[in-house]
Amino acid sequence: MLWAYPPTDQDIPADQLSNRLDWVRAGPFIAMHLACLFVFLVGWSWLAVSIAVALYAVRVFTLTGFYHRYFSHRSFKTWRIVQFVFACIGCSAVQRGPLWWAAHHRNHHVHSDDPDDLHSPRQYGFWWSHFGWFLTEKGFRTNLKLIPDFAKYPELRFLDRFDLLIPVVLALSLYGFGELVASQEPDSGVTGFQLVIWGFFISTAAVWHVTYMVNSVAHLLGTRRYETKDDSRNNPVVALLTFGEGWHNNHHHYPNSARQGFYWWEVDITYYGLRFMSMLGLVWDLKGVPHRVLEPKKAPAPLPIPAEAQPATVVQS
Ligand SMILES: [Zn+2]
Ligand SMILES: [Zn+2]
Repeated sequence: MLWAYPPTDQDIPADQLSNRLDWVRAGPFIAMHLACLFVFLVGWSWLAVSIAVALYAVRVFTLTGFYHRYFSHRSFKTWRIVQFVFACIGCSAVQRGPLWWAAHHRNHHVHSDDPDDLHSPRQYGFWWSHFGWFLTEKGFRTNLKLIPDFAKYPELRFLDRFDLLIPVVLALSLYGFGELVASQEPDSGVTGFQLVIWGFFISTAAVWHVTYMVNSVAHLLGTRRYETKDDSRNNPVVALLTFGEGWHNNHHHYPNSARQGFYWWEVDITYYGLRFMSMLGLVWDLKGVPHRVLEPKKAPAPLPIPAEAQPATVVQS
């Protein structure tokens, strides 16, 4: 039951851990995808599809706004209770706890696209950067040394230790709600299993793959406004699907910012959500992008050559 009860001893050096596909991890990952095929048995209803879309939106916002911009980059401040609530919502996306997620992401920024970046497409190819890297011993480890600022909270340590708890609660709640609707409105076509398949399995698989696209596609396809040391790209399609994370070259250029769309035309839904939350007093001190950071670095104009340094003109007589 290693998968259900991840080890707390995280002090094993990374170079002693295997970087090969671990079937204890890969088995449940594949099963989650196969479970989506049960949609052909349970059918659909407007309620099921609406719940799947709503859970996609809430969880993508939470992963980008909190797992990424808050836990990994500290780009704004919030209350401890809000930190915990969004850590729980993030856990429901079945991408493990916030400490695991943010520690790996911090490592990505330190080693972007060098051999120690576990999900670099330049180093390991598209599929490994998309979902191979975390199905390994090395990828499963949480290096708590990279995240001491949040590892000090026992409630976050608990969520990381029992990272399957929230997903199980979500799936059971969907089942219970679906059965309740079925008993009250038998003609609706809604069932408990139908809500589980749509709201949990299909919605979660969609959240997974758009998250992975930031590591894979946004390091391969798109434009580069800034000459960063990595291969990060700005990709509008990824930005729309992930609510703003596709402005990934902007982000690697200046990771501290709470916004990743640097200009008004770079749609960044997560940032709009964070601005709304700041109006409600739930978050504050959203870090912006200083003007000196915005302008792309241009090669300095060549200095005029002083007259005395000019080659002497040979006057032919
Ligand atoms: Zn990146
Ligand atoms: Zn980042």
